Amino acid sequence: MMTIKIKPNCADNPEFGTLPVNDALARILAAVQSVTGYEKIPVQEACGRVLYHAVHSFVRVPPFTNSAMDGFALNRADLPPAGQTTELVIIGTALAGKPFESTVGSGETVRVMTGAVIPDGADTVVIQEHVEISDQTIRIDARHTPGQNVRQAGEDIQPGDCVLEAGLLCAPADVGIIASMGIAEVSVYRKLRVAVFSTGSEVCDLGQQRAGVSQQTFIYDSNRYSLCAALGKLPIEVVDMGIIPDDPALLQSVLLDASHHADLIITSGGVSVGEADYTKQVLSELGSVDFWTVAMKPGRPIAFGKINSAVLFGLPGNPVAVMVTWCFLLKPALEKMLGISASAIIPSFIATSTSSIRKRSGRTEFQRGILTQQEHGKWTVKTTGKQGSGILTSMSKANAFIVLEHDRGGVEAGDEVLVYPFSGLF
Ligand code: AMP
Ligand code: MG
Repeated sequence: MMTIKIKPNCADNPEFGTLPVNDALARILAAVQSVTGYEKIPVQEACGRVLYHAVHSFVRVPPFTNSAMDGFALNRADLPPAGQTTELVIIGTALAGKPFESTVGSGETVRVMTGAVIPDGADTVVIQEHVEISDQTIRIDARHTPGQNVRQAGEDIQPGDCVLEAGLLCAPADVGIIASMGIAEVSVYRKLRVAVFSTGSEVCDLGQQRAGVSQQTFIYDSNRYSLCAALGKLPIEVVDMGIIPDDPALLQSVLLDASHHADLIITSGGVSVGEADYTKQVLSELGSVDFWTVAMKPGRPIAFGKINSAVLFGLPGNPVAVMVTWCFLLKPALEKMLGISASAIIPSFIATSTSSIRKRSGRTEFQRGILTQQEHGKWTVKTTGKQGSGILTSMSKANAFIVLEHDRGGVEAGDEVLVYPFSGLF
């Protein structure tokens, strides 16, 4: 059980947070477990699901030795010595699904198509482009290798092989592999149930206007929409819980209710130190929750812990902070909870910054950047301009985060920086 600890917060140190991002992530990963339930599903639905059991094969793939090319099957003993040619008699044809039923003898060949069973007596295929055909014979020269253009039975998969490990997030090719072994159903981790709230008396849903909130003062909820969109890409049952105004009693009852139904609760807003930031107070009453000021920008105030058995993430309210904390703190935790075994590999690489970037040492900064590939494959990056944590369009204009590490100072034009393409994150 986590204990209620009120950590130093923004008020204690207005300039920088206290917990480095990597430490925050390590604590989060240590505190969450993968769900235990699983279900059996048809292989057609396995893409994007996480294997609960490893998949073993009962069969060989390919199941029989077959031709990799259109050409002529023959025995290697009939390949001519260097500098010479040989003539072979065509005794039949083998098509994919229609084998040649007899044996290929010395001095004989069978016309074979890609995927056809290699006839008995043959072990080598000469492609048709390398053959002189006349009537019922072919002539081949000496450029060929014994055994060429033949796919051996079981060369990909053998019976008993552990082909896919438990904890694999199935990609399209994995679905094909499962089918190639004749397996129609697989067991996968059950979907995670995630409840998503927005908080804030100024926050309104589309097509609604909160009573008593004038049009001059409300803002449309964007966080719940971006979060639900991101969650929708994972094997997650999203429970959209709407918007809770800054009302501690209401917040308390809704969060408590969600904790009985969800594996994970995500809120945004109200975790800072403002007068109407009640999430903190309510959470510490309801569960074991840590409040962290993470040394990151954006995304500094964050709540993390548990209410009953539900894991809770209280994200900051600013829309870009929500996106950054989603990518670098929340998604890795979700991946562990989903049963994904491989530690999340988020692709990143080094690019050259084309402009200077202001940055002070002592926190990790996540700037929104536009990556461009130059001649010879080199990548350069520039920021999208205004980097305020409320400027959500900076995410749309960007195709990558420029991540400026904790201890790093400012960046000069021409310096190398670490970039995380959005394509690996969302
Ligand atoms: P807070 O963390 O509650 O102080 O909110 C920080 C900023 O984010 C404020 O300007 C809020 O109005 C804004 N904000 C909070 N929640 C949302 C939301 N769901 N969608 C868009 N902006 C929000
Ligand atoms: Mg608020």
